[in-house]
Amino acid sequence: MADTDKPSNFIRHIIDADRKGFRYVDRTWAGKPGPAEAHKGAPLDPACIRTRFPPEPNGYLHFGHAKSICLNFGLALDYQGACHLRFDDTNPEKEEQEYVDSIIDAVHWLGFDWHDNQYFASDYFQWMYDFAEKLIEAGHAYVDSQSADEMRASRGTLTEAGKNSPYRDRTPEENLALFRAMRAGEFADGTHILRAKVDMASGNINLRDPAIYRIRHATHHATGDAWCIYPMYTYAHPIEDALENITHSICTLEFEDQRPFYDWLLARLAELGCVNSPLPQQIEFARLNLSYVVLSKRKLIQLVEEGYVDGWDDPRLPTLVGARRRGFTPEAFRRFNEMNGVTKSDSWIDISVLEECQRDHLNETAPRRIAVLDPVKLIIDNYPAGQEEECLAPNHPQKPEWGKRPVLFSQELWIEREDFMEAPSKGYFRLFPGNTVRLRYGFVVKCLGCDKDVDGRITAVHCEYMPDSKSGTPGSDNYKVKGNIHWVSAKHAYAAEVRLYDRLFAAEAPGADGGDFIADLNPNSKIVITAQLEAALQGAAAEDRFQFERHGYFVADRLDSKAGAPVFNRAVTLKDSWAKGRA
Ligand code: ATP
Ligand code: MG
Repeated sequence: MADTDKPSNFIRHIIDADRKGFRYVDRTWAGKPGPAEAHKGAPLDPACIRTRFPPEPNGYLHFGHAKSICLNFGLALDYQGACHLRFDDTNPEKEEQEYVDSIIDAVHWLGFDWHDNQYFASDYFQWMYDFAEKLIEAGHAYVDSQSADEMRASRGTLTEAGKNSPYRDRTPEENLALFRAMRAGEFADGTHILRAKVDMASGNINLRDPAIYRIRHATHHATGDAWCIYPMYTYAHPIEDALENITHSICTLEFEDQRPFYDWLLARLAELGCVNSPLPQQIEFARLNLSYVVLSKRKLIQLVEEGYVDGWDDPRLPTLVGARRRGFTPEAFRRFNEMNGVTKSDSWIDISVLEECQRDHLNETAPRRIAVLDPVKLIIDNYPAGQEEECLAPNHPQKPEWGKRPVLFSQELWIEREDFMEAPSKGYFRLFPGNTVRLRYGFVVKCLGCDKDVDGRITAVHCEYMPDSKSGTPGSDNYKVKGNIHWVSAKHAYAAEVRLYDRLFAAEAPGADGGDFIADLNPNSKIVITAQLEAALQGAAAEDRFQFERHGYFVADRLDSKAGAPVFNRAVTLKDSWAKGRA
């Protein structure tokens, strides 16, 4: 039993029942995928359940995939089972090594491991082919030579049965000879197709003799030109699962109507001694739908190829490589998926839920630092030029054990432009002429006025400081002020490029109602600034994450940061600025 304190869900209920019923006790396992005969006499499978994550290596993984990854690998961990990483590369045209590498990185980054269980579906082509011959010999498959249009016309509709193909009654010998000729390259693409012989009158269109092999004269990234016929997904996927002794084959709801064929095919192959019983079972769950993003591969490719973003790992994209550059954490992704659970009914999750998970985790783990994003000079007229002293700033306000760090104070500081108003609005407690505020972790200062350039733009703010008001000294208690602003010493600051990322789309459902999703892009999703940061940040290593006080969580960009010259990306603001009213 899996005795974890994780919330249960319908998939765990199925697994628990299967294990109670000893459904898998006599399952054999030869260690590596193979047909039934290869597993004969092999030791019992030590893993109680086997799941798999089966990406097609034709794109980068996105937040939706993370749900499937967390689910499949999470179940394997909870039940001390195994989860396979299987590249579903049965389609010859699209797969690329770049995608394989990025998928491996992304799953590792999320914190999961498949140990030795990394497989490629294309390694099973010969077995798939052999099984197809067995199906033909047993009368379960036939070669159809109708045109694509004829096949479509005879398939029927949801309310009308299909019609049998005139080729449906070919003898097994005839079919076998034709199938071998297909495999030998004697026919052009589209001239013949191998179909399962199920039932053209079935109420489920997926059972109306689905195509299982097609002719495709194309070079495959792994098998080269060894094959000119390729298995269809509906045929290949159940076989991949069975060859790998997968117990629970978990997929999204749109495959529900294909489950009868999944079961039909494996039952026939088990009868023919091709695959082991007990057979894997397909279980469907509702996919992740997230507001303010697009998760369709086609749309993501368009965003990248048409230059709306800076590549697959753009921090605004809902890809896992993008999230990593953004500064999101894998822990928060896992938490997000645990919180959402798995269900059978489609629903939308607001992106703010994911952002809040990130915020929660970053709040716990990110040390505090000071950054001035929109700097204006603050000159302390009564502080001696050339003098400097240390102030102590806590690394985490709720974690005193993280200690304090020194920050240098001097006559000229950078403060946020918005922390000064020449004519204050009502309720404004920060700097304005005559007002007193605390420079956080430093001194209390009284505002004297400001300098302006010819256009009236403020170029510097002037103050005088109270020498006995330093934070942490007894005198500091003598001052009661309402405003508390952050600063960095101008002489010591590190001027850095900072990218203020925001949501890529301004609309909750980009392209809803048939509109163009491109029109819903948020024009302010990336703003690049030069910020003044506390000196310690200059030593940040790539991927170090911080809270910039009062601003949000930031990460040193993993690609653009150089030693001694980190560049920062904003992961998420401190508060949800999209909550009601903004959009
Ligand atoms: P394609 O249209 O290319 O098939 P895909 O998003 O289904 O795109 P796959 O590589 O086939 O990409 O997906 C791998 C796995 O991730 C599948 O098991 C799929 O069900 C799952 N998956 C994809 N999108 C989501 C999503 N939004 N929520 C949950 N799981 C998903
Ligand atoms: Mg898919």
